[in-house]
This record gives sequence, structure tokens and C-alpha cells, in this order.
Amino acid sequence: MFRDKAHSITDKWVDTLAPALLGDKPLTMEEISSLFEEKKTELLSALVTDFIGVHHQEVLEQQSAACPECGRSCKCRRQTSRRIESRQGSSKLERPYFLCPDCKIGFSPLDETLQLSGRQKQYDLQRLALDYIAEMPYAKASELFAKSTGISFSENTLHDFLANFTKDITLEEILPSVEEIVQRIAHVKGSAKRRPVLVVATDGAHLPTRPLPGRKGKRGPGEYKEAKGFRLYLLGSGNKIVQLVSWHQIQDADECAAALKVVAARIPTDQVRIALVGDGAPWVWRAMTEAFPEGREVLDYFHCSEHIHALASSQYADEPVKALQWIEATMARLYYGEVSHVIGGLKRMQPKKADAKEDIRKLIGYLGNNAHRIDYEHHRRGGYAIGSGGIESANKFICHVRMKRSGAWWLKENGNGMLALRCAMVNGTLDDAFKRYVALDQQNRFRLGTKS
Ligand SMILES: [Zn+2]
Repeated sequence: MFRDKAHSITDKWVDTLAPALLGDKPLTMEEISSLFEEKKTELLSALVTDFIGVHHQEVLEQQSAACPECGRSCKCRRQTSRRIESRQGSSKLERPYFLCPDCKIGFSPLDETLQLSGRQKQYDLQRLALDYIAEMPYAKASELFAKSTGISFSENTLHDFLANFTKDITLEEILPSVEEIVQRIAHVKGSAKRRPVLVVATDGAHLPTRPLPGRKGKRGPGEYKEAKGFRLYLLGSGNKIVQLVSWHQIQDADECAAALKVVAARIPTDQVRIALVGDGAPWVWRAMTEAFPEGREVLDYFHCSEHIHALASSQYADEPVKALQWIEATMARLYYGEVSHVIGGLKRMQPKKADAKEDIRKLIGYLGNNAHRIDYEHHRRGGYAIGSGGIESANKFICHVRMKRSGAWWLKENGNGMLALRCAMVNGTLDDAFKRYVALDQQNRFRLGTKS
């Protein structure tokens, strides 16, 4: 039955295509492709609509149906039509509509059978949209979405869709499962004798945010807020990095610390050696040592080296060779854990300028506070990480690439929704999160009725 219908649909479609194909000039591949591209969804959506009609004929002809809420048998009221969009184009569905007199719920069994989304755009398009909006500004995402699917998804609708998708998403949902984590650890360990190193790196990245518009619709001034977050990764052979978990949100230090504890509960700590890597900020160390008391604290080598460079450039501003020599000697001492030796040298150092005096005092404090985290040679021999390049690149990849764009100022909720989406993407959990979203959407679907 479908075969006959499909043939007649295709015949009609070829007729609409014919004038363009039968011109005087032979067509190039590019011209042929663009002609078919233009008409492609017309054919596919007609086929899809007809296939549904044949495949679900019984549902379309049914005269009574059970209310999805109370189970009462209801009579068909009338035929209603509804437009749906999928990757195969736009289809208009004519189907019977029922109303439960007890629950006042209107429903269409066809929608239930097809497990349609309450939105006009069906789940395949919604899933694709997430891939686009995770990577680029809404305007660009909307443009490329239309180009690749032939279906328009406006900037505003994309925006609302993401807000809806992420509004109930929790940290637990975007973390890999315990089984998955155990599997990744075993994979990295391979046949090695030593347990692999798990790097826990915590940091903040500044993001442009703005407050909610006031009552008169005026935007308040924007400000940079810190997206605090962490990344956990395994060090594989050849220093290959195997991602476990990333989580960044515009949040305070306590919220970040609480989130890290949730992650720690999923880590089989007896199967890894743990390196806690961070810069000098006290909240970072508090969060990490509370979540992983057994971890080894490592002051990020690059941050440490930045502090050394900063003093060199104020103390030896006019003597670049001397500056370089001092940096190299100091970093070598720090590498071998000779922190007290370096501090002794700083105490004897004669400041050449007024601001160098203050810089020396600060560096002494910084090295003194972090002395137990600086034994790099020892860390390295143990196979631990000494730099948090991993968190720096996570910040860049998760936060900056998508969120620091000219003119983009984020409301906290929207910014956190976007961060959650990008974290799910790098954690490899976006497909699972989407499945849960679909299941939830299905539970509420008959209440949404014909909402577009
Ligand atoms: Zn009912």
C-alpha cells in the first residue's frame, strides 16, 4: 500500500522538478545538487506523512481511546491537524482528537504512538540544535541549522529551547557513571604496575555577565564574574590525557567545593594516585583537600613560574640577560624543592626600584604559603602532573571559546545552562542527558497538547 502511494508521490515530485532539469544547457554537478537539495524535503516529508498514514492506520481510524491520565474510555471528538518538523522536513498530520470529560485533558493517540515531542520540532531536530548551539553563537547556529536541514530554528527559539533543556539538569546527570569511570581508569592502567595518576585541577575563568533587565526593561551594567570549576583527568602513557569530568558554573567557592565532593563520591580512590593541582588561591586548595584528603598537593608549575617572571621583570627591568639567568636558576632550585633556599635569596635581594620591594615581599609570602606544594622533582619522579595545563585548556575550551565573544553578556542562568551543555559534551554524557530529557518530555506530553 505504501509502495503504491510512494510511487505516485515520487511521480508528482519529478513533475515539479522537470522544468528545471530539462533546460537547454547541460547542468553541472553543482547545479544538479542544488536543484535536488531545494526540493529534497518536499519529497521526503510527503513520503513520511504518507508512511505514517499507512503504518499507523489503526490508530488513525480509532473511535474510542483510553484517557492517558485516568484510563476512562473517551469518544473521538473530531479530526484535528498538527504540523510537525523532523529532519525529513515539515509534515501535516490529520488525526483524531479525544477529550476526557473527567480530567479535561485533550489528547491524540497518534501523538502518543509516535512519541511526538510537544514542540513542533521533533527530537531529532532538537538534538541536532544542541550540537550547533554548543559550538557557536545563536545567530550563527540558526543560520547553519537552516542551511543543513532546510528547517528554520530562530535565534530566540533556540535560546528558549536550551533554557528549557538545561533548566532541570543536575551535576549528577552530566557526570559519567561509576562504571564508566572505573572502565576509563582500567583502560589507562593497562598492564602497568602502578596505579594511574588522577589529576584534579580547580580554577576560575572570568566571564562577561549581566543582571536581569529592570522593570523598565533597562539593562544594568555588565560585569565579569568568575566561572569556578574543575577538571578531572587521567594521565595515560606518553602523557596522554584521558578526560573524566569537567564541571564549570558561575558559582561561589562553597558551591564549587560541594560539587567537587559529589564527583569525589564517584571516584574509586584506591585505584588511582591523586594529584591536586592549582594556583595560589586559598578557596581552590580548600575545595580540593576537602574532597580528596588523600591527594598530593602540587602548586601549578606555570602559575609559579609566572610569579618568578613577574619579579624578574620589575627587579631586572633593564638587564634582560640577568633577568633570564635569575629565572632559570630560581626555577631549577624550585624544581628540586629548594624552596627555603630561594626564599633566603629573596630576603637578601636588594630591591632596585620601589615597586620591586613590594614584589619581593609578595613572592616570599607566596612561596612560603605553598612550600609543601613545590617539590616538583619529587612529584615528577612519582609520575604526578606538575602543571595544570589541563585545567587551563578546559577553561579555554569550555568557557572562553563559546562564551567570551564580543557583545555577549550572559545572564547567570543562561550562562550556567550553556556551561552545563558544554560540560556534558566533553564528558561524553550529552546523549544520556538528552534521553532523560526526552523521557521527561514524554511524561508531560499530553499536557502540552498542541503547543508548537
Ligand atoms: Zn481522564
